[in-house]
Amino acid sequence: MTTAILSALPEEQAGLVHALQHPQRITHAGRAFWRGELHGRSVVLALSGIGKVAAATTATALVEHFGVARTVFTGVAGGLGDGVQVGDVVVAHTYLQHDMDASPLFPRWELPGYARALLTCDAPLSALLLIAAGACLESGIGPSGSQSTPAKVHHGLIASGDRFVSSAHESTHLRDALRAAGHDVLAVEMEGAAVAQVCHDYGIPFAAVRTISDRADDTAHVDFPLFIQTVASRYAENIVGKLVQML
Ligand code: SAH
Repeated sequence: MTTAILSALPEEQAGLVHALQHPQRITHAGRAFWRGELHGRSVVLALSGIGKVAAATTATALVEHFGVARTVFTGVAGGLGDGVQVGDVVVAHTYLQHDMDASPLFPRWELPGYARALLTCDAPLSALLLIAAGACLESGIGPSGSQSTPAKVHHGLIASGDRFVSSAHESTHLRDALRAAGHDVLAVEMEGAAVAQVCHDYGIPFAAVRTISDRADDTAHVDFPLFIQTVASRYAENIVGKLVQML
């Protein structure tokens, strides 16, 4: 049983590739995939690229070409919820595409043909990710000195869309609009909901963990690259390493 480990950016994936045993690099659909073992478990590491379409292509290739049995996404996101700070970790419970809008034909955010806005992650796999993320933070791997309160693990809704959200105005608007419709959003990124939709279509379990790199506000364009260069890879390697040992 092979587990797909998806990351959006090479910086998020670097530690995982380094830790891979018996690595085999395969090019398919213009993308690099790494087959091998992590802690003795069969995995395929893949880069989704940035945005929903790139991520959907990679997720489809993982199912169709590599025959993976489950998919786990690890990457970074902008914090939207109250108290979701840089260095915190969010394990997705559900996903929504915040740029899906076929209103008035369909309710805002509903996926046409799916009769729903929300895609739910696999509960058992998400429970293991919550344990792995908690253990990661307890081991003190987080960015030192960048926050006044200890890093936390959150579990809830993540919104994806083809926009890097980088102003306080936009992030407040997005959070308030979703909240008004009963969607209490924790974080925003650009790929997860697309992968969730592909996994839903194929009936394979999907779970996602995102470390908060920025607050999707006016300093997001500074905070994001700093986080990516310094801590994102360590988080991914640590959390995924702990996860696969529990599979
Ligand atoms: N040129 C940049 C592009 C990064 S886009 C680079 O390669 O360095 C931001 C990535 O991080 C996406 O993969 C997205 O999923 C995630 N992300 C982090 N913070 C985000 C935010 N505030 N809004 C949207 N996506 C965010």
